[in-house]
Amino acid sequence: MLPHRTSIRLELRRFGAELSHLRAEFTNKPKTETTSILSNPTWLAVVGAVASVATGFWQLHANRQLEREKLRSTLIQEASKSGSPETTLKNLKFLVKAGLVDDEKGAIAALQLDDVPSFALLPATPLTRAEMLDNFGDPKLVRKQGDGDRAGIAVPDEAWMKANLIDVDLPELIGVPGFPESGKIKFHRKAAPHLQAAIAEIHQKGLIRKIRYFDGAWVPRTIHAAGGGIYSTHAFGIALDINSRWNPLGRPPPPADQDGSTAELVPIFESHGFYWGGRFRMSEGGHFQYGVKSSTLKVAASAAAG
Ligand SMILES: [Zn+2]
Repeated sequence: MLPHRTSIRLELRRFGAELSHLRAEFTNKPKTETTSILSNPTWLAVVGAVASVATGFWQLHANRQLEREKLRSTLIQEASKSGSPETTLKNLKFLVKAGLVDDEKGAIAALQLDDVPSFALLPATPLTRAEMLDNFGDPKLVRKQGDGDRAGIAVPDEAWMKANLIDVDLPELIGVPGFPESGKIKFHRKAAPHLQAAIAEIHQKGLIRKIRYFDGAWVPRTIHAAGGGIYSTHAFGIALDINSRWNPLGRPPPPADQDGSTAELVPIFESHGFYWGGRFRMSEGGHFQYGVKSSTLKVAASAAAG
């Protein structure tokens, strides 16, 4: 293993390169214009603050749109964490100036101190079905003749399956009740690396035992209660269920010290871009789905409104 300081420096360099790349995409300018960014000490401090959460970013670029949202969300959250409106405003304006946060409408640039709350950041939200179709393709579910409406199970499109579903290796979960002995499950190729990273971190933190039961991931089904046509997030291969029997639909998820609780896993899944079903209005504490939207637009919108 590398000495701590060296590895941090290496991470910063990789992170810096990645950010330059993203910044170039934001601004549609050639990458060469972004090379001096690492010489800025304020910038280095910001990078230092987010380096630990950033580790996942460069691993996976299958879905740049989501990666950008995730990055933007993280940067804004980090900018706001320090607490005071003064610091938050300074950090936000720095991020805009450095081209790291998109501020198309100039809302952040126009922020005055009075506009900045002493931060309770608006939570991230899951993707809409339209955004899921955009990001993960249309599985084109077709109900089987004579199958009735049983559990909304339907036949997915072969071409979509071939293009999007992969067997993802999760060796850490072998032995968890309900998990296949092969160590593999089907998941969307864009979400799979994030799932692997989340499970690896859960394993690394000694929390695998918190996954008491694996209740499934990809299922080609529609949402029954919604009256048909709407795909379950499971139909896209971006969702998984664990500990379902301890987390019944519509009941408050059990707190961390109780049997079957997923509470300690939530921050890990969230840091890898998963949205927790425990935050749904109809609570589902064992459900995690990939894909979140940052609060950037809300912050910008409220600033513009005020
Ligand atoms: Zn689920």
